Amino acid sequence: MAGAVRTRFAPSPTGLLHVGSALTAVANRRFADERGGVVVLRIDDTDPSRSEPGAEARILADLAWLGIAWHEGPVRQSERAASYADAAERLLASGTAERAADGAVRFREERRPTLLRADGTATYHLASVVDDAELGITHVIRGKDHLPNAELHAALARALGAEPPEYVHHGLLVGADGSKLSKRSGAVALADLRDAGIPAEAVRAYLEELGLPRGNVRYDETRLRRLAVEALAALPDEELARRAGVDRALAPALRGARDLVEARALADLVTRPPDPRATESPETVRAFRAARERAGALDEAAARALVGDLRKGGADLRALRLALTGEPRGPELWAVLLALPCDEALRRADASLIN
Ligand code: GLU
Repeated sequence: MAGAVRTRFAPSPTGLLHVGSALTAVANRRFADERGGVVVLRIDDTDPSRSEPGAEARILADLAWLGIAWHEGPVRQSERAASYADAAERLLASGTAERAADGAVRFREERRPTLLRADGTATYHLASVVDDAELGITHVIRGKDHLPNAELHAALARALGAEPPEYVHHGLLVGADGSKLSKRSGAVALADLRDAGIPAEAVRAYLEELGLPRGNVRYDETRLRRLAVEALAALPDEELARRAGVDRALAPALRGARDLVEARALADLVTRPPDPRATESPETVRAFRAARERAGALDEAAARALVGDLRKGGADLRALRLALTGEPRGPELWAVLLALPCDEALRRADASLIN
């Protein structure tokens, strides 16, 4: 369709996708979505010495995790050498490029940027411009670090007889000291965030919130963590348990967790039988035992009622928690009861009644 918006996200497979590149991906996706347009995924692997094996697969997996789908691609630059050589030939023929003594092809403008290296491989500048033209890209949305390239890219596109796309450069995510985001700025690769138990929704929401920043933005981990709490709160029990990789019955016990790593730790607290230790309140444990047997199968209301009745009866709930989990703190007691099968709860109660 004429006039349709076409954007592209063009990561280089040189390592893990970090939040800064993910911001570009989200911005492209949103720009296209808002205009009924298309996102092309392009893998900028022109430089084999910098490409890391497996990096492309990890980038695709990270994008899928973030929920960013693309309409076309992945288009790999490493598979498009013929197009670049052809473009270089046309530029040589029209006199806008010249061949150096070593065989490299350079653009004939002030900076004399290299288009084809002496070994015949295309540089990022040539590959990017040829691809943008052949893929019909209407809007190039990328980080401000590429602003210095825009003029050259537009000139190169015109020299190739193409209408240059519109270039939109967004501010970069930077560390607390205003410098480029790096390992020192904390967990910045999407894989690190995932390992830290931050749900994808939170990362996505954070990046959507930033939108297309004009200036550089400080990476705000506190904000991301707040969004993680909100994202986890919004997950239904079933999904929360699935993400934590635990049984669904454990979901209520995960509710206080601020991330999925904490959620797993809470689940662990409940599922791991405590070391046998005599309880300080045998009366409480006996009262619990009787009430638990009487109650049979528990739902949330029944579990809450059971704890409420014990409290009213003057039970020492701290001692009961210790008997059941071995820890003085943890998920709400009713959630612990809900998570523990009846026979396991009774077994733990009995274990604390030994002296
Ligand atoms: N591969 C480039 C990068 O990762 C993309 C630059 C562009 O969008 O033109 O920075």
